[in-house]
Amino acid sequence: NSRIHLQFNITQFGRKDRLMVVHDITRLKQLEQMRKDFVANVSHELRTPLTVVSGYVETMASVSDQLPPRWGRMLAQMSEQSARMEALIKDLLMLSRLETTQQEQPQAVAIEPLLASIAADARALSHERGHNIHLSIDCPAQLLGYADELRSAFSNLVFNAVKYTPDGGRVELSWYCNDDGAFFAVRDNGTGIEAHHLPRLTERFYRADPSRNKATGGTGLGLAIVKHVLLRNNGELLIESEPGEGSCFTCHFGPERLLGCQPHEHETVPQEQAS
Ligand code: ADP
Repeated sequence: NSRIHLQFNITQFGRKDRLMVVHDITRLKQLEQMRKDFVANVSHELRTPLTVVSGYVETMASVSDQLPPRWGRMLAQMSEQSARMEALIKDLLMLSRLETTQQEQPQAVAIEPLLASIAADARALSHERGHNIHLSIDCPAQLLGYADELRSAFSNLVFNAVKYTPDGGRVELSWYCNDDGAFFAVRDNGTGIEAHHLPRLTERFYRADPSRNKATGGTGLGLAIVKHVLLRNNGELLIESEPGEGSCFTCHFGPERLLGCQPHEHETVPQEQAS
């Protein structure tokens, strides 16, 4: 389109003097838009052929007992890799949607049922790994925002905590409010992250330890999604971590996004232990 984008940088010198530099960033914005469109189109176009391939792999896997063992192993690999590609495409499309779609009016999102269902999903995910997943809600408020986006961001943080915490470890989810607003903290006693990685974790495809993360099978896009969701929901992400001790990822929302917040003493949602 024919919109012109200008960026103003103002620098103050001493008391009176100011220097204003105006940059024409129209071309930069156009290139950025082309990149977004390209990623969205490619992801969309890849979905259909991949669904067909996965369908055939599944059909062949269903008769794998009639195939030579070597074929069974190859099919298992193909199935794993197509699942990985599907996850990548799903995350890329989600990121594109977050970057390009206009926002509607935010809705009041009830926090308690949302977090309870995410905790239940996490317990199901950790079923065989025996994590102790604990949820506490200090103020069962409503948050002005977009329910699907918030679910996706919170789930990403919780599933990461399970992924990067050894079997039987502890994952604590807590929602609390104070004068600064509302907080959703996901604390684990897992692998932790070296300090020098922290500023880059929300970049697309950035992974703190690629060799270790290969085994966990993530896409490297989860925290980029979290960052974009929080931007759209007027929130911010705070990360603390200690290698070997664990990590804490906290989403912070300003008080203006909170409805019906009446903090009370640690109400704890009963924990259903993974059997
Ligand atoms: P991935 O799909 O690799 O998990 P994310 O964007 O969700 O991608 O996370 C980026 C990187 O941050 C991960 O690869 C991992 O190195 C690190 N990370 C995220 N969450 C945790 C956590 N709870 N504990 C340790 N490392 C984490």
